[in-house]
Amino acid sequence: MSSWSSAQFSYHFHGLSESFYRGVTPSPLSHPHWVHWNREFAESLQLPTEHNTEMLNAFSGITLPEEFKPLAMKYAGHQFGYYNPDLGDGRGLLMAEIKANDGRRYDIHVKGAGLTPFSRQGDGRAVLRSSIREYLCSEALHHLGIPTTRALGLINSETLVYREKTETGAICIRLAESHIRFGHFEHCFYTGQHEQLKELVEHTLRNHFPECQQQEKPYAAMLQQVVISTAQLFAKWNAFGFAHGVLNTDNMSILGQTFDFGPFGFLDNYDPSFICNHSDYQGRYSFANQPNIGLWNLTALAHSLSPLIERSDLDDALALYEPELNREFSRLMRQKIGLQTKQDQDPELFGEMFALLAKNKVDYTRFFRQLSMLDSQGIQPVIDLVLDREAAKIWLDQYQQRLTLEAQSDAERCEAMRTHNPKYILRNHLAQIAIDKAEDGDYSEVETLFTLLQNPYDEQPEYDQYSNLPPSWAHELEISCSS
Ligand code: AMP
Ligand code: MG
Repeated sequence: MSSWSSAQFSYHFHGLSESFYRGVTPSPLSHPHWVHWNREFAESLQLPTEHNTEMLNAFSGITLPEEFKPLAMKYAGHQFGYYNPDLGDGRGLLMAEIKANDGRRYDIHVKGAGLTPFSRQGDGRAVLRSSIREYLCSEALHHLGIPTTRALGLINSETLVYREKTETGAICIRLAESHIRFGHFEHCFYTGQHEQLKELVEHTLRNHFPECQQQEKPYAAMLQQVVISTAQLFAKWNAFGFAHGVLNTDNMSILGQTFDFGPFGFLDNYDPSFICNHSDYQGRYSFANQPNIGLWNLTALAHSLSPLIERSDLDDALALYEPELNREFSRLMRQKIGLQTKQDQDPELFGEMFALLAKNKVDYTRFFRQLSMLDSQGIQPVIDLVLDREAAKIWLDQYQQRLTLEAQSDAERCEAMRTHNPKYILRNHLAQIAIDKAEDGDYSEVETLFTLLQNPYDEQPEYDQYSNLPPSWAHELEISCSS
């Protein structure tokens, strides 16, 4: 195929036995067209930097190039705490793997490709609105420094898809170094396929955790790595104010990356009880509960590995979670407020800061960004973000006292802080504006947000209004799973 003749494709997952997937022919979208193409990423994969019709047809199921060998993965998982054996790629297909210039190998997964044997009652499609959200958010997280799947391209079509209203079928071309989920292992375990469980663990070790192969107990070493990377991921989400929304074990990447974007949300005002998923009635996946759920999900994974790893090694691996989560969260929060040394009073300083933010519903992202401007703009703009101005002054006083124990100058500290506290995040209302325009056929706002969020830590004064507090209508936005 001429358009991607220099790209290098491979098919490692395809080498697994048939209990792991079914071959599926994608169902073509009607009149597909490009919404966006991630040029920089494409270039790193030796794909054309400009999108073209040949690739459009291949990704939307109109043609099937020889490089693509589409398959739907079989997996299971715990959804909202209950085991569901019947999951699998119900609308996404793994086409091939592709090698990047830096040596990494990515799965090419086409989300919204039509029915598969695992579609259950679903229609195999993804609507434009949820595809835009996944496309923008995965790239936004990547540029913030949060591990995540990536997005290569976004396609819309004239295929009608019926949700609460009639929408159009879209495709998000998702790339990840692996699409193996906790639920893949659970599937083998709960169906009693212990040989296949071993096959999958060996495959995962060889392809994704090669350094563990040298260890005395490679399987246990791999689980330890998964525990550590998951703890770090969950710490990052909470430090950046990100809520995933549907932390079922089928949405947990074995690589500790943000995976399967649904009704996610960034905090606007700081609210630990924030529930971004309108259908999560009990708040199982609330912002504050995310860290607990990380451990719950890892425990489910460990249980499914119990035929291969001794009980004491499972326990030892799981015991790494909490200290790693706390270590990483505290490292990130110290960076956010610019502390290089550790002092006895720090827990109190942080405790009072979080209490101030919660009580006054302070905008989480703006607070830290403004704190990073203390050198040039002083304390007044920080105070202005807090309803109880006296309480803000008391905390700022405490903070400034604490800063006298640091060696850095104000300017040095603030400059470093601005590399840890983004000015721009994908707030729900920003995504919604881009979606509303796109549904009217205008994709310019998708392009604008994509570009803006590639440099979330830069001032980009021309985009200043994108860092504003959300408008009042944003509080009424309800995001649910019907994507
Ligand atoms: P999710 O909530 O997106 O993580 O999906 C949970 C399960 O439902 C997975 O097995 C998906 O493949 C499947 N699924 C979600 N949406 C659809 C759809 N529109 N058609 C078919 N399967 C779907
Ligand atoms: Mg999912």
